[in-house]
Amino acid sequence: MSQPFSIAIHGGAGTILKQQMSAELKASILHDLEASVRAGHQVLISGGDALDAVVAAVKVLEDSPNFNAGKGSVMTNKEIIEMDASVMHGKEGAAGAIAAVRHIKNPIELARDVMKKSNHVLLIGEGAEEFAFKNGYSYTEQDYFYTDRRYEQLQSMKEKGLFALSESKYPDDNKYGTVGAVALDQQGNLAAATSTGGVTNKQYGRVGDSSIIGAGTVAENGNVAVSTTGMGEFFIRKMVAGDVAARMRYLKEDVHIASETVIQGELKSMGGEGGLIAIDSAGDIHFAMNSSGMYRASIDVDGQISVKIYADE
Ligand code: ASP
Repeated sequence: MSQPFSIAIHGGAGTILKQQMSAELKASILHDLEASVRAGHQVLISGGDALDAVVAAVKVLEDSPNFNAGKGSVMTNKEIIEMDASVMHGKEGAAGAIAAVRHIKNPIELARDVMKKSNHVLLIGEGAEEFAFKNGYSYTEQDYFYTDRRYEQLQSMKEKGLFALSESKYPDDNKYGTVGAVALDQQGNLAAATSTGGVTNKQYGRVGDSSIIGAGTVAENGNVAVSTTGMGEFFIRKMVAGDVAARMRYLKEDVHIASETVIQGELKSMGGEGGLIAIDSAGDIHFAMNSSGMYRASIDVDGQISVKIYADE
């Protein structure tokens, strides 16, 4: 029997209001989640690398306006869009990340190229973009990322003097819309990828956990791959993805116990709302959340697909 392979993705966790979710929006979100997990799974079926699978899956979500990554990213206090992303490959612990980029259509590809083509792990702002353009990326105008919905959200947050989450007319405005993927490939490699526009009304220049290896993204062959979503200021301080990996490595907890312990433990008590997806070296998948929902999907080692939104599903 060949090595098992599987993949899981997320499109953000948080409060998602059922009563406000129109059938049309729900169908569109479920469609995108399925397209994403299938795109990644296709790479795995054809024997591709876990890293290529997670990048392919995340790219589908970055290209959809339904999620807070790539097109549809939330806005900073300066009414501009700045995006963060990271990837990690479990084989040699190689990683790449970018932060606060403004003109890159698919930040996840740039994170992968920082890993593959630079001597560094994390590039930010102008330097990251210069690296991108030297490597053949085209300049994408801010207009491409703009959506009316995110502009309205920003105005509502500014009025309330808040940052991060807002209450407004959309069913998932109380949700962090970051996207991510984790996969195990037929060679036994684990990989993780995370991409985001951050949080609404953030100070421009702010960087969240999605760029931070060990907080938002981690992959270790023989152990686990993790991608997180939630309020980055908490996820960075609790080193969430790395903590799941450490619990499994040192305490020998399984992926389910380790993920739940981290998400429902101190992170939650200190106010860190959100969730994570994790996949272990046998392809077992776990979705953890301390919020009412998390957009998510998976295709397990038996090829069974699952696409869900609410925590009680
Ligand atoms: N974790 C992201 C951040 O703080 C937000 C999200 O998950 O949507 O930038």
